Amino acid sequence: MTRQPESLRIAGRDVPVLTATTVVAGAGAAGLRAAEALAERGQDVIVVTDRLKAGTSRNAGSDKQTYYKLTLAGAAGDSVRELAATLFAGGAMDGDTAVAEAAWSARAFSHLVEAGVPFPANDHGEYIGYKTDHDPRQRATSAGPWTSRSMVERLEGRVRRLGVEVVDHCRVVDLIVSGVGDGARAVGLLLLRTEAPVGDASPFLLVRAAQVVQATGGPAGLHGRSAYPRGQWGASGAALRAGVVAQNLTEWQFGLASVAPRWNVSGSYLQALPRIVSTAADGSDEREFVADALGDYGRLVTWTFLKGYQWPFDIRKASDGSSVIDLIVGRELARGRRVWLDFRADPGGRPLDPAALAPEARAYLTAAGALSGRPVERLRRLNQPAYRLYLERAPRTDLAAEPLEVAVGVQHHNGGLAVDDWWQTSLAGLFAVGEAAGCHGVYRPGGAALNSGQVGALRAATRIVADHWAVADEVDFRAAAAPVVTAASDLVAAAAARFATGRAETGAATLAALQQLFDDHVGLVRSAASVGRALDQVTAWDQALAATAVADASSRRSLDRLFLGRDLLLVARVCLTALADYAALGRSRGSALWTDPAGRPPLAGAAGAAWPDEFRFRLDAGALDDRVQQARHDAASGATTLTWRPRRPLPPPDDQFETVWRCHRQAVD
Ligand SMILES: Cc1cc2nc3c(=O)[nH]c(=O)nc-3n(C[C@H](O)[C@H](O)[C@H](O)COP(=O)(O)OP(=O)(O)OC[C@H]3O[C@@H](n4cnc5c(N)ncnc54)[C@H](O)[C@@H]3O)c2cc1C
Repeated sequence: MTRQPESLRIAGRDVPVLTATTVVAGAGAAGLRAAEALAERGQDVIVVTDRLKAGTSRNAGSDKQTYYKLTLAGAAGDSVRELAATLFAGGAMDGDTAVAEAAWSARAFSHLVEAGVPFPANDHGEYIGYKTDHDPRQRATSAGPWTSRSMVERLEGRVRRLGVEVVDHCRVVDLIVSGVGDGARAVGLLLLRTEAPVGDASPFLLVRAAQVVQATGGPAGLHGRSAYPRGQWGASGAALRAGVVAQNLTEWQFGLASVAPRWNVSGSYLQALPRIVSTAADGSDEREFVADALGDYGRLVTWTFLKGYQWPFDIRKASDGSSVIDLIVGRELARGRRVWLDFRADPGGRPLDPAALAPEARAYLTAAGALSGRPVERLRRLNQPAYRLYLERAPRTDLAAEPLEVAVGVQHHNGGLAVDDWWQTSLAGLFAVGEAAGCHGVYRPGGAALNSGQVGALRAATRIVADHWAVADEVDFRAAAAPVVTAASDLVAAAAARFATGRAETGAATLAALQQLFDDHVGLVRSAASVGRALDQVTAWDQALAATAVADASSRRSLDRLFLGRDLLLVARVCLTALADYAALGRSRGSALWTDPAGRPPLAGAAGAAWPDEFRFRLDAGALDDRVQQARHDAASGATTLTWRPRRPLPPPDDQFETVWRCHRQAVD
C-alpha cells in the first residue's frame, strides 16, 4: 500500500506528512523484524530508511557470520538462565535484558529458520553449534559469510508480502516530541528526502505516528578505519538531541578487518594460519613483522589460530594471548606501514610444524583435515565460501595468488540508547532495537548482536501492540513539529546563503575530519589526553556548525551531508564526553587499551621493552562491571550529564506455572 502524504503548513512552509500507527526507522535485520511482527499483529506500520540496500546487516559479515542462541543440539546441558548468565557476565549489561534475550532466542531463531535463512541442521534436526568468543558452550551457528544478509532478504520478503510500505531515500533528521518532562512522548519523525527532485517543494518529510521504532543501526560513520560497510551512518544524534538517555557509549569492538572490501577476517581466515606481513606504502620492503615481534614460533602459530575465534581485541588477552597480535598490527600501522594477510606461504619462514601448535588448535585443524598444504588450501578445506567471498566481491582478490590488505578497525557499538526489557527508551513512544540500542555491556559473545536485534524487535512489537496508543491529533502534532521543522529549515537557509556567497560546501569535509580525528585519538589505543583533545575539537566543531555550515540547497547530496555531519558531531560529542568521564574513573577493559604510564607493556621480558609507553596499561579487572554509565544530552544548554547507575540484576526465577499463567490471563483479558 502506498499512502499519499497530506500537506501540513508549518511555520509558513508546506511539508508533506505521512501518518501511520507505528513508524520503523531503518530496514536492517532488526527494523524489518519489528515491522513484520507489527504487521502480523494487525498494526498499520510504515518503514522509512535512508537507502534500502545500505546498512550493516545487509552488507557486513565474516568467514561464518554468527548467530548466538540457546543450545539446540547435542547432549550438553543449557538453559535460559545459563545463557542469560553468560550474557550478564560480559559486565555492565542489565540482567532483565539478558534474561529476555536468552528466553526468546530460540523463538527468534526458529522464526528465521521458518523464514528460510539456511542455518544448517543435522539429519535429526539438531542445530549443531560451535564456540564463538566469550562463549563457554557451543551456542553459535551460522548460515555462512552472509548470515545477516540472508536474514534481511528473508525478512524483507515477508514484510512486502504483508503489504508494509517501505519509504526509501529518507534520512532521519530529528524526532518529533510532544510535551515536556515526564509527559514527553515521541509522536513522529522529521526526515530529509535525499532523492526527491529539487524545486520549490520542501526537502523534508514528516511522519506522524503513535510510536517510533528506531532501528537505524550503529553510528558507523565516526571512524574511518572500520569494518562497517560504507553507507551505514545511524541516526543516534536525533535521539540524543531529543534528550533520550544513552548508555555504555564507551564500549566499541575493534578487530582485524580487510580494507577493501571492508570485511571481518575472523574465524577460518586466521585459523588457516596465513603469514601476517607488512610493507612500505608502495608495497616494497616486505617484513614478517608479527613473527619478528613475538620471537617465538609456537606463540606465533597458536595465537594466530586463536585470533580466529577470539576475534575482537580483548584487553585481557593483550599481555599473554591472541590480542597481542592486534596491538602489533596497530603499532605497525602507526608506523605508516601497510599490513597484509598472505595465504600463499606458511608463517615463520618454514613449513607448518603442527607440534608447535597448542593442543586445542592442533586438534581442531586435524579434525578438519586442514593441517597440510599452503594456508590458502587450509582455508579452502576449512571454509570454501570464505575463500570464494574475496573472488566474488570488489575489488576481486584471489587469496591463492595475492595478499589481502588488513587493518585494525571498529566493527560494533556495544552501547547505544538505553532500553528496558521491552526495548523502550527513556522517551515514551520511542523504542530502540538492534545496534541503535545499547543492550550489550563490556564483552558479548560473538553473534549476540544479531540475536539481540531479533529479540528486541519482537519484544518492542509485542509491547506496542499491547499499549494501544493513539496517533497525536493534527493540532498537537503541528505544535510539536513546528520548532523542529523551523530549526532544520533555518539551518538549510543559513548554509545555502553562505554557499551563495561562493564558499565551499562543508558537509563532506566535516565527516572526513571527524573520522580522521577518531582514527587518530579514539582507536584501539587511546589515553585520557588524546580523548580530551578530541572532545575539545569536536565540541568546537559542533558549537560552530550552525554559524559556519555551507551547503548547496540545490543538491540533495549536499543537504544530506549537512544533516549527516550534524548528527554525527553530536554523537561524537556525547561519546567523547562519556569516554573522558570513563578515563578519569576506569582502567583498560573490553576492546580498547587505555594508556597508563604506571602499567605494564603487552609482552613481558625483552619483547616488552620494545613497546612505546603509550602501550602500557592496567586492567580494570571487572571493577565497574556492576555499574552502567548513562549519558543524557540537553540540547538547550549543550551539556551532557553522566551518571553511573547500578546495573539491573538478573531477576530471580519466576517459575511457578500457575502464577505465571494467572498473570498472563489477566494481561490478555
Ligand atoms: C564486519 C561485521 C561483522 C559482523 N559480524 C557479526 C556476527 O558475526 N554476529 C553478530 O551478532 N553481529 C555481527 N556484526 C554486528 C551486526 O551485523 C550488526 O550489529 C547488525 O547487523 C545491526 O543490525 P541493525 O538492524 O540494528 O542495523 P543495520 O543492519 O545497520 O540497519 C540499519 C538500517 O538503518 C538505515 N539507516 C542508517 N542510518 C539512517 C538514517 N540516518 N536515517 C534513516 N535510515 C538510516 C540503514 O540504511 C539500514 O536500513 C558484525 C558487524 C560487522 C560490521
